Amino acid sequence: MSSSFVVHPNPNPHSAAERAERLKSPGFGRYFTDHMVVARYADGAWGPATIEPYAPITLDPSASVLHYGQAIFEGFKAYRQADGGIATFRAEKNAERFASSARRLAMPALPVEVFCGGADQLIGLEQAWVPGGDGESLYMRPLMIGTDPFLGVRPSLEYLFLLFASPAGAYFPRGVKPVTVWISDEYVRAAPGGTGFAKCAGNYAASLVAQAQAQAEGCDQVVWLDAVHRAYVEEMGGMNLFFVLREGGKTIVTTPELTGSLLPGVTRDSLLVLARDLGYEADERRIGVDEWREGVASGRVVEVFACGTAAVITPVGAVKSRQGAFTIGDGEGGPVAARLRQALLDLQHGRAPDPHGWMHRVV
Ligand SMILES: *Cc1c(COP(=O)(O)O)cnc(C)c1O
Repeated sequence: MSSSFVVHPNPNPHSAAERAERLKSPGFGRYFTDHMVVARYADGAWGPATIEPYAPITLDPSASVLHYGQAIFEGFKAYRQADGGIATFRAEKNAERFASSARRLAMPALPVEVFCGGADQLIGLEQAWVPGGDGESLYMRPLMIGTDPFLGVRPSLEYLFLLFASPAGAYFPRGVKPVTVWISDEYVRAAPGGTGFAKCAGNYAASLVAQAQAQAEGCDQVVWLDAVHRAYVEEMGGMNLFFVLREGGKTIVTTPELTGSLLPGVTRDSLLVLARDLGYEADERRIGVDEWREGVASGRVVEVFACGTAAVITPVGAVKSRQGAFTIGDGEGGPVAARLRQALLDLQHGRAPDPHGWMHRVV
């Protein structure tokens, strides 16, 4: 992307010492770089995108997002490469999904040059904020909200697009720790015809009470079942799920199919391809919660893991529900998840070949 947006430099950027202090242990989503991409939509068109100092925004109290929730977001990462450069991973897939989320929420399409070109220019400007350790990255957070100062219920006529960046540490600095999950039979995340496939703020708002219930049951994360039958596995919290099966000497990596109520994860899509590259069979289909429980008991289901941009791959060690509890394998996570995780991180940090052209060099 060769777009060049006007930059209004931050008059008070972090000092090199402050930045170094933050990069020592960035965590996730705690610190923000000095600039952000800003674009506004009004009168049926996007105005010119610019790069502005990272700062609070002003909204009218009647701004439609605050009442009717037209809010979508994305998340992707820029990784320090083995040779010291910087590259993003499949950002154009996030741009596509952003467009699909916008359509579902009756929001205008954002030009891809603003999404991808804006990210490239921001990363170029903030390159000193990209940490260098394995699994560390600069997390990019694009979002769009309806800003119309009007209380009538209809799609907003004005929108604000922002794209800012946050240094991210390795999610599991002390090694990958498996999670215990609670299968919710009370709450659903998404229903047919709803917004499950869109990355919208409202999906998260509706999920928090179920996450709190999972924690009250002594679990780390909630697992969502389909809204109609309450029988098929959909996702874990804000991550997609994978099951590893042993069948007649073969290892099969399988994930719930995209029914419209699941979020089509970029990590999910990438792992289906990487699994085949590594010699496993991979497929997408409906997976029942009974098949999960019986498969673990019979030894057919050998591993379960969740995946997403933020945490890459998280093994599921144990499962609880109103029907009882069970442990997967030794509860410590398995070799297929570990191998896929390493293969993905090697590709993202430029230590492995990139046969599918997923990396985009920025610096
Ligand atoms: C973002 C998200 C994911 C993971 O998507 P990635 O593109 O892999 O980061 C999975 N489920 C939900 C509900 C999400 O919001």
